[in-house]
Amino acid sequence: MQHYVEKDIEKILLSKEQIEKRVAEMGEQISKDYEGKDLIAVAILRGSVIFFSDLMRHISIPMAIDFMAVSSYGSGSETSGSAHIKFDMQEDISGKHLLIVEDIIDSGVTLSNLKEMLKGRTPESIEMCCLLNKPDRRKVEVPVKYIGFDIPDEFVVGYGLDYASKYRNYDCVGVLKREIYE
Ligand code: 5GP
Repeated sequence: MQHYVEKDIEKILLSKEQIEKRVAEMGEQISKDYEGKDLIAVAILRGSVIFFSDLMRHISIPMAIDFMAVSSYGSGSETSGSAHIKFDMQEDISGKHLLIVEDIIDSGVTLSNLKEMLKGRTPESIEMCCLLNKPDRRKVEVPVKYIGFDIPDEFVVGYGLDYASKYRNYDCVGVLKREIYE
């Protein structure tokens, strides 16, 4: 049976196999870097959940997990200058090594604001991990320690990423046809 997403995408940008391989590498790297450290990984809802659940199964050291939902003000596909917490994590991160796991970094506004907000909770360290990076779109410089793939400036869906709440349950990352969102 054909997947419903396939008729709405222009092309597959990242295959299931490419994603699986890269996510496994990222998990191994994170396991090495955080060996012996008190790691807490926080997934940013909702886009990162599929990436997060695959990634954590490739992390071979003890870790805690938690979730947050953050929104950037603005409309359409552009984000504006601020972000706010819609749903907060439950864990106390003070003295812990915090790894923020996000689906995609675009302008950088969301992650940079979030990082500033979370610094006040005195974690031992804060690093970011994004499956996808659109370097051409960056407005705010924010260091992301773990990046899965650099991608061109195109609107992508699948593997957790949505458009109008659809397409998250597609196991590849594809470029959405312009006619769908224009
Ligand atoms: P930033 O603050 O870095 O501009 O925004 C990041 C957020 O924008 C992501 O968490 C995601 O929700 C959204 N976003 C940016 N580019 C894309 C894209 O190509 N596809 C989808 N589905 N969401 C995107």
